Formats: sequence, C-alpha cells, structure tokens
Amino acid sequence: MTQIFNFSAGPAVLPKEVLAQARDEMMDWHGAGMSVMEMSHRGKEFMSIAAEAEADLRELMSIPSNYKVLFLQGGAHSQFSMVPMNLLRGKKSADYLDSGIWSKKAIDEAARYCQVNIAGSSKDKNYTYAPSQVALKLNKDAAYFHFTSNETIGGVEIFDVPKTGDVPVVCDMSSHILSRPMDVSQYGVIYAGAQKNIGPAGLTIVIVREDLIGETIAGTPTMFDYKIHADNESMYNTPATYGIYMAGLVFKWLKAKGGLAAMEKINIEKSSLLYDYLDASDFYHSPIAVENRSRMNIPFTLKDAALDESFLKQAQQNGLLQLKGHKLVGGMRASIYNAMPIEGVKALIEFMQSFAKANA
Ligand SMILES: *Cc1c(COP(=O)(O)O)cnc(C)c1O
Repeated sequence: MTQIFNFSAGPAVLPKEVLAQARDEMMDWHGAGMSVMEMSHRGKEFMSIAAEAEADLRELMSIPSNYKVLFLQGGAHSQFSMVPMNLLRGKKSADYLDSGIWSKKAIDEAARYCQVNIAGSSKDKNYTYAPSQVALKLNKDAAYFHFTSNETIGGVEIFDVPKTGDVPVVCDMSSHILSRPMDVSQYGVIYAGAQKNIGPAGLTIVIVREDLIGETIAGTPTMFDYKIHADNESMYNTPATYGIYMAGLVFKWLKAKGGLAAMEKINIEKSSLLYDYLDASDFYHSPIAVENRSRMNIPFTLKDAALDESFLKQAQQNGLLQLKGHKLVGGMRASIYNAMPIEGVKALIEFMQSFAKANA
C-alpha cells in the first residue's frame, strides 16, 4: 500500500503515535471504565487530564506564572471579537498589522468595536511578504497591537515580535504555535485554534497576561469574558473535553521529541528541503519573500496553471493528499506541520521532480 501523507492546512495531520495511543485508550481510559468522551468534565479523571495538559503546555512554551492558559471553543474567529471586547479597557483604538487574509479578517471584526489603525500592510504586493518592523506606524494610545504571526493561506511567517513599547502585543498563532520556541513574555495575548498544529478542531487555546483581563466592553457576553474563563479554570461551561485530551497527548509527544527547540530544528530542515527544491526548479515557483517564508504552510505554483488539475490528481494517486492551494490564492499549498514526518516532504519532492520531468 502507498503510504499516505496529508498536507491539509487544517484540520491537519496528527502524530501517528498520538492517534494510536488515543485508539488504545478509546474504550477505557486508564482503567476508568469509560472513554474520555464520556467523562464528566468535573470528575477527578478529566480534571487530571486537563491539569496535565496545561502543565505540559506551560513547560513546553515556558509560560510565565502571571499568564493564564485558557482552553476555549469558538475557534480563532471568536478571538477576533474577544480580543477587542477584553483588551480595549476604555481605549478607543487598536493597531493592526495587515499581512494577509487572516489578519484582514481580524481587522474587519475589530472594526465593529473600535477604531482600527493599520500599522503596516503588505497588500501592495499581494501579501507576499511581511510589512517591515521599521516602517510600522504605531499609535502609543492604542489599546493593543495585533498581528498574525503565520498567515496560513499566504504562507508568510513573521519571525520577530514587533516592538511596541508599552502597548500589549496580541498574536494569532493558530498555524505555527509550538513550531519553535516563542518568548511568551513579549506578548499580552496569544491565541490559536487547535486544528492546525495542536490537535482536533473544537479547541481554542488562549494565553493571556493576567493584568489585561477583567474589564470588558459593555454588552460582552459572559462566554466572551476572559476573566470568567480564567476564574473558572476553563470549566465555566463544558469545555471541549476530547480536544483537550488529544492536545495533551500531543504536548507529551512534543516533550518526548525534545521540546520546541528540537521541533524548530526539524521544521527548518523540512521546510528548507522544499524551498531549496522550489528555488532550484524552473517548473515550480514560490511567490513568498525569502525572509518571510513560512515553515508550516508553503504555497507554490506550477509554471503552467493548466497542469494544476493533473498535478493534484497524480499527487493523490501517489498518496500525497490535500495539496490544493486556498481558493483565494490558487496554485498549491503544502502544509507541513509538526506532525508531518520528513519522509512526507521527501516523498512530495520526489513526486514533484517526476511530474516536472514528465511535463517539461
Ligand atoms: C485557521 C485560522 C483561523 C481560523 O480558525 P477557526 O478555528 O476556523 O476560527 C484564524 N487564523 C489563522 C492564522 C488560521 O490559520
């Protein structure tokens, strides 16, 4: 049988070892006589699962003790409104970096609650690079500064945290959280939907500095108040229990792999293999500025778009799945998250070589 490699942008590939462990524990978790899905979220078994997941995430990311870790639902999309609702704190405006389709969505949602200043934009070149740090137009009265550190659709990654003085930095890390060490203390809020680089869809992780929570705008729904979730240890309502369990298994898997510094090394190796091949080829092309190339989501085009369909069909026949680019940018996209083994990247390049040769 051909080995299958799943290049989906999300929901995405999970570590085989994690899926196998979940299978083994499916019917009876650690002698509890039931599946994790059937447990009360307030029972001692599930409380221990959630507490261990949080402790492992704190260890992996070295999260300082003055930060809360929240296990929420609603996806990154809900954070687009929760961020202004919780972080405006009496202020009237917020700074946003406009680096692609996801930051634009965050901007449009924030504009319902406050004045949005675009601190920098890469729209002029169709979002193929990240706006430069030196050219940022920052407002010192902004309630916060928001950016999307990895544009999943565009394939643009920002490697340096923008310097904003006393203005807290808010970051949508959905598609590359845990791909490398990040200095959490440089952020006010980090958020991420789980379905890219963590676990199954349905869980959203928020890491928020304690002093930023507790003052929401009038009319904020209870479920959108960070403080409510923080005070109730993410158990104000029924959390995404199975998603938390799966994320916890992924955190253990990452620890066993050597943590985030080790992941970064592997991710550099995997992404360089593909970029080096793209750059050496005159059949394929990467449109992204070299210094902002994402290590997770790698869009590329074929020299003749008329070949796209047969490329995708033959890739699928070779066990290489979900390579179609997002409909807004076209072409191809290989998402190579933590759980994608290097063998998958090598298999992709081998296929690309033979396809290029056959269609030269
Ligand atoms: C996928 C994605 C989102 C949207 O996530 P949902 O969980 O579907 O709301 C937002 N931002 C980025 C960077 C993403 O990759």
